[in-house]
Formats: sequence, C-alpha cells, structure tokens
Amino acid sequence: MTSTNDLERLHSMLVSDGDLRKLDDARLKALSHEQLLELSMQLSRDLKEARDRLNQNPDNSSRPPSAQAPWAGLGLSDGETDTSQVSNPSEDDPAEDTEDTPASHSDANQTRQRRPAGRQRGAPGHGRKLEMVVTGEVAHRALHCARCGAALDESAPFTATTAFYVLDIEVGPAASPGLTVSHTKHLYGQTICRCGHATSTEPGRSVTEAEWRVSLTEHCLVGPMLASLIVCLALRMRLSRARIQEFLSDWLSLELSIGTINRCVHEAGRAAAPVEDQLVKELLDGGHLHADETPWKESGLALWLWVISSAQVSLYLIGYRSAEILENVLGDRYQGWLMSDGYAVYRAYRNRLRCWAHLVRKARGLAESLDGRRTQHFGQQTLDLLEELMQAVYRAREGPPALGLPEQYAKRLTEFKALCESHRDCEHKKTRELAREFLNDWEAIWIVLQYPQLPLTNNEAERALRHWVIARRISYGTRTEQGSRAFALLASVIETCRKRRISPWPYLARVIAERRKGNEAPLIPAIAV
Ligand SMILES: [Zn+2]
Repeated sequence: MTSTNDLERLHSMLVSDGDLRKLDDARLKALSHEQLLELSMQLSRDLKEARDRLNQNPDNSSRPPSAQAPWAGLGLSDGETDTSQVSNPSEDDPAEDTEDTPASHSDANQTRQRRPAGRQRGAPGHGRKLEMVVTGEVAHRALHCARCGAALDESAPFTATTAFYVLDIEVGPAASPGLTVSHTKHLYGQTICRCGHATSTEPGRSVTEAEWRVSLTEHCLVGPMLASLIVCLALRMRLSRARIQEFLSDWLSLELSIGTINRCVHEAGRAAAPVEDQLVKELLDGGHLHADETPWKESGLALWLWVISSAQVSLYLIGYRSAEILENVLGDRYQGWLMSDGYAVYRAYRNRLRCWAHLVRKARGLAESLDGRRTQHFGQQTLDLLEELMQAVYRAREGPPALGLPEQYAKRLTEFKALCESHRDCEHKKTRELAREFLNDWEAIWIVLQYPQLPLTNNEAERALRHWVIARRISYGTRTEQGSRAFALLASVIETCRKRRISPWPYLARVIAERRKGNEAPLIPAIAV
C-alpha cells in the first residue's frame, strides 16, 4: 500500500496553524509561568513530530519511492529538474484534452472550466492529408464460389463495392533497420463465378461487446503495427496524445487526429482483453505471487491500480480498493503463497507472506525517531532482529542449517513477541501500530524462516508498479472506464512480454490484426530461453 494520510497526521499536532499564527512575542510575554511551561511542552512534542516527518524518506517510512521529489535519485541538484519526469500542464496543447489525456487542467487549476473532449470549435483540424501517395493496392477477392464451391482465380471478374486506405509502418529486420510507412488501398467486393453467382467479401470485424464502445475491424485507417507504435508511445514512453501527434507528424509525416490516436489505444486494449484469461490462468498455476496497489485517478474518481505478479506474469487491474478485485482474480482457486503489504484485504489468504522491507523501513523510522527512548528502543530492537534473521535466511538458502531456523530462533521470537505485547498500547501511535502489525501478522511474517527459499520482500510487485506510478503523475490518470480498462490490459501485455524478454510491439500488432479479423487473440509466447 502506498498512500499516506497527511490529513490524519496533521490532526495529531497539538498546536494548530491558527494557534501558531496568534503566538507573537507580546502574547507570549503575557503568559504565566505555568502557562509557558505547558505551551513549551506542547511545542516541543509538535516540533519533534514535525522534524520526524521532515526526515521521512522511503528508507525509514512507508512512504513510496514516488513520494520522493521527482529529481531525487537522478543525480540532479535541487535547482535542475529533470523535465522528462515532470508534466507542465500549461505547455500542453489544448487539443490534448480528449479522453485519457491529462485531466491536468481541472486538477492543476480548479478555477479553469472543463471543456468538452475533442476538437474545439475554431481550432485547426488535424485531419489526414489526402495527397499522400498510395504505396500499394490489395483486392480482397473471394477464393471460392459461395454457391458451387469452384475456385475463383484471377481471371474471374471482380467489382469493388468497398474501398479504403490503411496507414501502417513496417519495421526493417535487424540487418537493415528502419521504419517504412505504407499507405495501402484495400478493395472488397464481388467476384463472379462461371456459374453466374457473385460471391462477396467484406472487411473482418469482431462482434459487438457491451463492455466496449470502440469497434474492432479491418476497416480502419490505422494499421496494426502503427497502432502498436502508438500504444508504445502512450504507455511505455508515457507521451501525451498531443506529443504522440507531434512525434508522428515530425518524424513519419503522419498526420493523425488526437481522436484517432486515442481510439487506437482503446482499440488495442479491447483487442488484448482475451489475453487476460491466459494471464490469470498462468498466475493461478505458477509459483508464488506478489500483490501491491497504488492510488489511481479516473476522471477525479479515487481508484486503485493493482498488480499481481509472478515470475512470468504481471497482471494489472484498475478498480476500487476492495477484496473483490483479488477475489475476482484469485478467488479460492489459488493455493500458493501470496506476498503483500499489511493491507487487511490480504488477510483472507491462508498462505500469506509479508514484505520484510516494509517492516525494516518502519522499524528504522522508529529507531531514528526523536519521540523518546521507548520508541527508539522498540524500533532498534525490531530492526536488529529483522537484520539478524535476514542474514540467517540468506545463509539457509546456501545450504540447509543443521537446526531449522524456527527452532534456532524460537527463544528470540518469544522474547520479541513479549516486547510487541508490551508496546501494543504504547501512547506513541507509530510504535503501537508496528507492535500490533507484528502481532496481527505473526505467522505471515515469520513463515519464511520455515521456508527460506520464499521471498523476503515485495520488491517484485513494487517494481512492477513503479513505471505506471510515473505514468499516472504525468497523465493524472485516465478519463473514462473504458480508458482505465484499456490501460490496465495493455500494461499487463507490455509488462508480461518484457518479463519474458519478448518485444511487446510485434506481438500486440499480431493481436490487433487477428482480433480485427474476428479471430482469437494469439497467446503470449512462453519465456525466451
Ligand atoms: Zn459458382
């Protein structure tokens, strides 16, 4: 879980901002000795808490790496900001304000009125330039007569009834790299058999599905590989729709409207939807799983982006933060180990693992706290124990110890449990919370001592979310339910392919091409050896 409740922590401060504003020298001088003493004690408690908060970073708290300043860890000094990580709503093209592109305007500037999606009246159009050279023509003729079954060869007369153009790209092979743009005319129509029957062809399409408003058909301006490139630019390169438009125009002389670009992303999401079944099946079948979640926004709605990861699969879902999401995917079918943070939804799973990195960070936060000796002592004891046991787990992975770790450390753990018990009602909030967390999740935390080969951290899932957390900060989330669905599906395809060291883009192009024909989506190939 990667959220901090700042409001709640603000309220734990004793002296309010309003009180502080009123505290000037004259008023302080007017206070009695007792009043001054009481105020000094309050101020000192507040100052300690404020300093602790100021010192918090991802190493000693549950603050996520994304809570760091965007330039932190990039080797930049505070003054120079890495602009690639920071969005600047004011420089975005107004035409960008279509579906799934930044709701930044409403988020960043509440007073500015929200405009409807799409091209604004009077704005210059970005329609396709029609003078583009046609690079090829394909007549989709019927191969057999629908009445007598005779083969229809090139000599059979063909009359086109439908014609349209498709823009696509071809990626050259490794030996002669490069991108070629094609602009192909596609013809569909009737072929006349010797028997006199006219057999028709028409562009393929997938049948309508209630969940999707975007159609999936070969009758489409943007070819499968170009659509795949657009998804790459949008999700993997994290470009806004307006930047994609700019890139395609500047580098490939392709003039596409923002609406067309947006449509491509949604269509690719719909095309990839059946792949999710494959991923869920593989998750249920293989190894231990990691789960994590991070806040997500859909048109101002506060949702969560979830990831469930195995060694071979990363599955993303956008929805509410409820047990339902996990139940839909894993249900009671999953019997393996599930690594997670302390969020209560995961407690329903019997074979649960807890991330030690989270616990280490929290313990370090207490050990470095200014709150008092009791808090520091508890933090340090916890930290020492975790670090010692981590070394023991690493050693046990090299070769099984003569005496199992649970037996070796039985006495230490009994002592530590007593320490947690004695702090479960501690007046310091974070000390109390960590003590209770250990007591609540006792089995899940220490089970790894029995099975040292199991993972100690949830880094797998946290890593799987990192890229998309930055994407959210740049785009301010998605705009529609369909946009969220497409985003999660495409993220699953991209990350799963990357995990398997397969390029997602030719695969996604194949998925789009097959689904446009009304065929099934090809499976993601197994890991490349
Ligand atoms: Zn015939």
